[in-house]
Amino acid sequence: MSSKIGFVLGAAALFAAAPASALTLSEKLDLLVAAYPDTLAGWKGNALTLRGGETIEIDDGVRRDHFVMLAEGDVVDSLRQLYEAGPCDPKPSLNSDPGRIRSELLMKAMYGDSANIVKARLSPVDWFGETLRVTSVNGVDNALAKVRDELAAQPDLRAYLAPSAGVFNWRKVSGQPNLSVHSFGAAIDLNTKYADYWVWSGGKPGRVPVYANKYPMEIVEIFERHGFIWGGRWYHYDTMHFEYRPELIAIGRASGVAACK
Ligand SMILES: [Zn+2]
Repeated sequence: MSSKIGFVLGAAALFAAAPASALTLSEKLDLLVAAYPDTLAGWKGNALTLRGGETIEIDDGVRRDHFVMLAEGDVVDSLRQLYEAGPCDPKPSLNSDPGRIRSELLMKAMYGDSANIVKARLSPVDWFGETLRVTSVNGVDNALAKVRDELAAQPDLRAYLAPSAGVFNWRKVSGQPNLSVHSFGAAIDLNTKYADYWVWSGGKPGRVPVYANKYPMEIVEIFERHGFIWGGRWYHYDTMHFEYRPELIAIGRASGVAACK
């Protein structure tokens, strides 16, 4: 009897003691570099080195709260929150916005630091009757074409996908000082008819409306398989939005977190 109780307690303690295995910063940086082989050459100390030779500071030493991180995070900040991939519905906890924090310095270094430079690197991708212009940097255009091919095998999903609300748009995030990832041609918005976006739902900073999502999880699973994270997993939700962030999918997986508990 006592050994059975001991086993039960032991198992419970095991689960309690084994949440996400926290990766070290070094392990996260290795996964970041591995996720962008075309543009990142490596990292050493506090510097990330691009293939072109440019370096970017990894940790600028500034400690920020969540909202300042959203506006001006550094590379370390962009890797803090763990992205939980998988076919299960999200239930985002307060201010859990994995991927919404980005290093604008890194994005500009990889994709281009002006509208014209980004534009020159866009490439056409057929998307259910329209042509999208997607960055060819990091093979994002090829990744999106693979997503399209898998989605095309399920005609019942098509109404959610097209018309797309767009890819490239050099602009700031609504109400924020930082550039949207659409500025880099590395994000796609699906058909707005099914969209739930915390701002459109009447949200204000500090007051986010109740979470909602109308897109089938099959769509999310396919995007995630090809390196795109979903804005529907954010507390500040944006369910039509997908962006190419393969490092976050790799880091979440290596950390042992997943949408399906
Ligand atoms: Zn978007």
